[in-house]
Amino acid sequence: LTFLGLESSCDDTAAAVVRVEGDRAEILSSVVAGQTELHAAFGGVVPEIAARAHAEKLDLCVEEALAASGMTLTQLDGVAVTAGPGLIGGVISGVMCAKGIAAGAGLPLIGVNHLAGHALTPRLTDGLAFPYLMLLVSGGHCQFLLVRGPEDFSRLGGTIDDAPGEAFDKTAKLLGLPQPGGPAVEAEAKKGDPKAFRFPRPLLDRPGCDFSFSGLKTAILRARDEVVAEHGGLPRQIRSDLCAGFQAAVSDVLAEKSRRALAIYLAEEPATPAFAVAGGVAANSAIRAALETVSAEVGARFLAPPLRLCTDNAAMIAFAGIERYRLGARDDLALSARPRWPLDQSANPLLGSGK
Ligand code: ATP
Ligand code: FE
Repeated sequence: LTFLGLESSCDDTAAAVVRVEGDRAEILSSVVAGQTELHAAFGGVVPEIAARAHAEKLDLCVEEALAASGMTLTQLDGVAVTAGPGLIGGVISGVMCAKGIAAGAGLPLIGVNHLAGHALTPRLTDGLAFPYLMLLVSGGHCQFLLVRGPEDFSRLGGTIDDAPGEAFDKTAKLLGLPQPGGPAVEAEAKKGDPKAFRFPRPLLDRPGCDFSFSGLKTAILRARDEVVAEHGGLPRQIRSDLCAGFQAAVSDVLAEKSRRALAIYLAEEPATPAFAVAGGVAANSAIRAALETVSAEVGARFLAPPLRLCTDNAAMIAFAGIERYRLGARDDLALSARPRWPLDQSANPLLGSGK
């Protein structure tokens, strides 16, 4: 089966062609057009600008992805598109584009939950078998998922406020570093002393797998203001120390909560235990190392997809579309874009909402 995938739920416009034969998956092409420059002046993603840019770039990305894959539309078996959750304008752009292609070429249309795309990535990259534990850590999300099937997700816990990627981005902003904040903070942290500042490890004293990151952000703000008051500015080395201290706090919290989530998952006695991470923050090498250690402690295989598949891309959407298709799922031109779409209620879109 060969699918075209489209992704436009945040600030990356992406198209990809993925082929699955049996349990072997191959990315024939994957095009990602970022919008970082467009939003740089605003210190964050501006939904209206994002939606317009997606509408402008989608066609081009699709053309490029098809050309790079060596496939024509008529050779495809379907079109998969992110139908949510995300910035609604962008999601609508993607869904409209996918409907046009599917209707025009007479191909099946499959709507994909963006988070399912992230959560199924280790199957695309490593053919990982169900059930596995997934930590999804991105710019907008932070949650543990017990993944039992392409549409079977149980949420073991998640953030009650900010996502870690958001905390990285805000920390970068507070310290005068460029966006996206994750890579910038990580680079600074490498030059800093993680013990120079001791930041809080929120919710570690409470049972369960939930996270909170908003207090950490406030602690960074306070520390920065104290440094500025004392030094009349933010000395380079201290800035690096703040980044290192922040990253250590996030990493410690993610590691400890992962221990707890692994315990819940292992209680189900999976034949070959596996712990996978996905989402942009999984690109952080210190965090990856911490999670890998935790995984090794309990003898679970640890998987982290390559960086370009950790952040938003359309290959994961095409792949998740194929997985849904193989379960018999079909959407039609009534497919709607959804700003909110909790993953553990994928099968029942009429229930609740949340991060
Ligand atoms: P979502 O997928 O939840 O809708 P998103 O699309 O913003 O959110 P991703 O593209 O998966 O998320 O990841 C982007 C986030 O990852 C940004 O917040 C970015 O700062 C963060 N990030 C990227 N690289 C790193 C890194 N090396 N260290 C920490 N964070 C990082
Ligand atoms: Fe994402």
